Amino acid sequence: MIETGDFSFDNRLVSAQETEEDTSLERGIRPLSLAEYIGQDKVKENMAIYMEAAKRREGALDHVLLYGPPGLGKTTLSAIIAREMGVNLRITTGPAIERPGDLAAILTNLSPGDVLFIDEIHRLNRAVEEILYPALEDHAIDIIVGKGPSARSLRVDLPEFTLVGATTRAGQLSAPLRDRFGIVQRLELYTPDQLCDIIRRSAQILNIPCTADGAYELAKRSRGTPRIANRLLKRVRDFADVIGNGEITQKIANTALTRLEIDQLGLDSNDRRMLHMIIKGYGGGPVGLETLAAALGEEAVTLEDVCEPFLMQLGFLSRTPRGRCATQLAYQHLGYPVTPGQNENQLSLPNTAED
Ligand code: ADP
Repeated sequence: MIETGDFSFDNRLVSAQETEEDTSLERGIRPLSLAEYIGQDKVKENMAIYMEAAKRREGALDHVLLYGPPGLGKTTLSAIIAREMGVNLRITTGPAIERPGDLAAILTNLSPGDVLFIDEIHRLNRAVEEILYPALEDHAIDIIVGKGPSARSLRVDLPEFTLVGATTRAGQLSAPLRDRFGIVQRLELYTPDQLCDIIRRSAQILNIPCTADGAYELAKRSRGTPRIANRLLKRVRDFADVIGNGEITQKIANTALTRLEIDQLGLDSNDRRMLHMIIKGYGGGPVGLETLAAALGEEAVTLEDVCEPFLMQLGFLSRTPRGRCATQLAYQHLGYPVTPGQNENQLSLPNTAED
């Protein structure tokens, strides 16, 4: 039988998407400086150099594109950039900027050096994107004044500013937009050790007693994502308060996470449902993403952004030209018998376009 989750992807505990509860939780624990920002060492080293160089030139930092799965710290990093550069931060998202005039209003209100953060920048519409090109390159925008034959174009100069764009899917950015970012940084999933440091820091700020192995248990089961780590910390605290003495120990963490249906590796019922479907519904794959999404009653983008990065990092899922395959590791983890060479056969199928 295919396992069914009793909650949807949108509100699941290990979803990396931000919820209102996260927003209030994150207020106190969001790192405010590069020094407090744990992990992502390469990105931090690079950004420290670019920021120092911009400061020495007394100019704005070049435009930055941050990409990677949700909840890894893109918004946090943009706020750190603004803070370390000593400038204002203006936050918006691609879908919120509906018309060119909305973007023009934002841009003309920036002060010199300001950071404009656009989350989900791949969702900007074409007309808005076109306003952005001259703004990024020439610090100017062209506004059309009037209508019909009397319409004329008016060039408005802008202050030098830094655009920080964030996206979960860099591949969906149009080439002209991507080319206008001087700095492109990819954020990686965090290791359990790094997540453990993040959890211990958050626990200290929130005054939650937590042992080292309790923090590690949460870290191991947080899908490589700080947002999830912080959320699990908060949930497991409730268990520690009610069934323990308030302290998060390994035992409490284990009991709580098991009750929350998050397994030893951090997979929740939806991850398992996806793998079960590939294995039982499609013989282990390959199965196209759209087909799989329809079979699960989910959006393809949700599977791609939320489930797949982690399942691929664990080596449970592979992407082939013909679709997704569950690997032998996934079979083992879910308790299915493994037949020798099952994935080799799937991988050697001829290439056809994936749906
Ligand atoms: P994104 O914008 O990539 O979706 P956020 O920047 O909103 O992710 O990060 C989610 C939360 O995770 C933040 O509020 C912060 O508390 C925590 N976080 C993210 N990255 C780090 C980090 N490197 N160190 C410590 N905490 C982090």
